[in-house]
Amino acid sequence: MGLLSQGTPLAWPESRKLNEHVRDNGVLQLISCYNAAKERANDPFLWGDEIEYQMIRIDDEKKIAQLALDESEVLINLGAEGKDHLRAVKNDVLFHPEYGRFMLEATPLRPYDGRKLSDYIYVEKNMAIRRDVARKEMTDREVYPVTMTAFPTMGCPNFTYPEAEPNGRASQSLFLPDEIINKHVRFPTLTANIRKRRGQKVDINVPLYRDEYTDMDHLDSTIPKRDLFPSDKEPFQGAAKPGYIYMDSMGFGMGCCCLQVTMQPPDIYQARYVYDAFVNIAPALLSLTSATPFFRGHLADQDVRWNVISGAVDDRTPVERGVPALEGHNPRGGAADDVKLQRIPKSRYDSVDQYLGDLQPSHVNGSANGHANGHANGFSKELPDGTAINESPEIYHYYDPSLNDMKTPINKKVYKELRKNGFDHQLATHFAHLYVRDPLVIFTEKIDQDNGAETDHFENIQSTNWQTLRFKPPIQEAVPGNNNTPGWRVEIRPMEISITDFENAAYSVFTMLLARAVLKYKPNTYISMSKVEQNMEVAHQRDSTTNGKFVFRVNSFHGQDQPGQYVELSLDQIFNGYDGFEGLIPVTRQYVSETFPATTEKDKEDLDKIDAYFKLVSERASGRIPSTAKYLRDFALSHPDYKHDSIVSDRMNYDIVKLMARLDNYDHKLLPKFFGDELSDWLVKHGY
Ligand code: ADP
Ligand code: MG
Ligand code: MG
Ligand code: MG
Ligand code: MG
Ligand code: MG
Repeated sequence: MGLLSQGTPLAWPESRKLNEHVRDNGVLQLISCYNAAKERANDPFLWGDEIEYQMIRIDDEKKIAQLALDESEVLINLGAEGKDHLRAVKNDVLFHPEYGRFMLEATPLRPYDGRKLSDYIYVEKNMAIRRDVARKEMTDREVYPVTMTAFPTMGCPNFTYPEAEPNGRASQSLFLPDEIINKHVRFPTLTANIRKRRGQKVDINVPLYRDEYTDMDHLDSTIPKRDLFPSDKEPFQGAAKPGYIYMDSMGFGMGCCCLQVTMQPPDIYQARYVYDAFVNIAPALLSLTSATPFFRGHLADQDVRWNVISGAVDDRTPVERGVPALEGHNPRGGAADDVKLQRIPKSRYDSVDQYLGDLQPSHVNGSANGHANGHANGFSKELPDGTAINESPEIYHYYDPSLNDMKTPINKKVYKELRKNGFDHQLATHFAHLYVRDPLVIFTEKIDQDNGAETDHFENIQSTNWQTLRFKPPIQEAVPGNNNTPGWRVEIRPMEISITDFENAAYSVFTMLLARAVLKYKPNTYISMSKVEQNMEVAHQRDSTTNGKFVFRVNSFHGQDQPGQYVELSLDQIFNGYDGFEGLIPVTRQYVSETFPATTEKDKEDLDKIDAYFKLVSERASGRIPSTAKYLRDFALSHPDYKHDSIVSDRMNYDIVKLMARLDNYDHKLLPKFFGDELSDWLVKHGY
């Protein structure tokens, strides 16, 4: 996340009165940014990653591992405005606060230059420095920053250090104390306002892994019967389901760690094109990086964090979700009486709903890069919600509006305002969809803003729409030629965090080189949005990495104008290729060999490392080595303490954390099983 505003946040009943104010002004801010930056061209391909850590206190005497709540100050001090900022700068790294008080986010100080081979090699080194600086900053020497998606026993008795009671007013959770929430007022307010807008607590039900003695028939007996808040009744009114792991608080989702990468394509057109190209690569990346087999002390029958975060911030009222309210709850949740509610199919944290459209710059009218098949024929006659529109058609390259087949709701007022101000249909639709949401946290000090110079109202809505991809517009200062401020960026957000820096670097570097290959070869990867939706579901299935079938458009990266075909492919076929498709790794390899000639010894060494990164992606996709989720699940299933009842004990949790801490140190004994013999040998030979 970016910088945190200081100030006084409004509680929901006050905040909701300003919903329209924030949206109206947010849109004006967006328009001023768009007008300033739309003509930017030839921006350098810069990029950067974000790594998140859980700060875990390991007690080797008691053999327990707990989430550490007392280290957050130090790390905020290392952030852009902190008092130890210079120490971070000296190390070329930057730290950012996250939702959890036990969490930490770190990025490179400056973005990498995607045109330089050496910068792709520097990524892993920078990640290692971040881990090292963070570890050294811990005041408690037993606390380690671990790149783990979800803490296995989060929400079980005494899972924090120091221990805290789950009795907080912000979340009202039966499992998570409010003390796990970042101390900055934004975060408890966000937690409370989501709950209040929704009209009840969030409820997340993850399918339980079925083992010999797993109780699939009764409500989980570890759900406390408490009488502190009226919401305590909710799990017994139908919010919790037998056979599922029930979670009731934002922290279960926003307490998960992930890997994100942001890139800056040369201009808005190429940003839109590469965004669209990754829409259907996103579910494959989620599956490839699967790392989350445990939630709230249970083994789950899925491998990823995504739907848990989605549920954890789902502020939709029952009417918006299209479900009956729990007994005694208002179907309109915390919406004001005079607000018209519409059906909204998905949470604000979910997969992309809208293609941006690969609009062609007007001066080349569909003939960019020598393809002359720009077409205006597929122009949609209606808005995503079914309303007819009557506007002149736009010229797209591959995109056809019928691909946006999800009937996504939009904010019509916003759509009209954007169209009036020069936004094309797809771009206006994208933002008008984000603007069906309410702002969740408003600071009194930030109500009145200069729309020509500020972007807080715009960002308020933009940054609380958490999709698999984020299209990041520049600010008003980003006029053509001003390279001191970023241009149009695309963020890739589906990936799970991996245990080692080697893996996190491999996935970051691979996705960015793939993006470069996409921008160079211009393949047509479009499939209908409903199929992307289906792929997201597949990515959630246990062992989807090896068994999942994903709908993919097999269209040559080099024979651009073929229509392409939808085929169901395994991750192996998508990444490694087969006789019907080149494969994402081979085309990325080709891009690398065309772009970075092995001239010097240093180049050769660097390319050998890139090769090791490709190897990791390839081996995971093929199933020759286990996904992180499978590796961890198998470890739990064969743990001497495990009773074949799908329960993760404190001792199992400790051993899982220890295992991960040994792996992130590249313990040679563990490498062959985790990475396979070939990569393990490579790592050992290269001094890991
Ligand atoms: P957020 O949490 O909103 O995604 P962060 O600041 O945490 O934002 O991370 C943004 C990432 O984008 C960082 O890795 C940063 O290095 C990178 N970045 C910064 N400027 C640019 C740029 N001009 N182009 C591409 N990436 C950039
Ligand atoms: Mg983050
Ligand atoms: Mg961030
Ligand atoms: Mg963020
Ligand atoms: Mg408390
Ligand atoms: Mg980010």
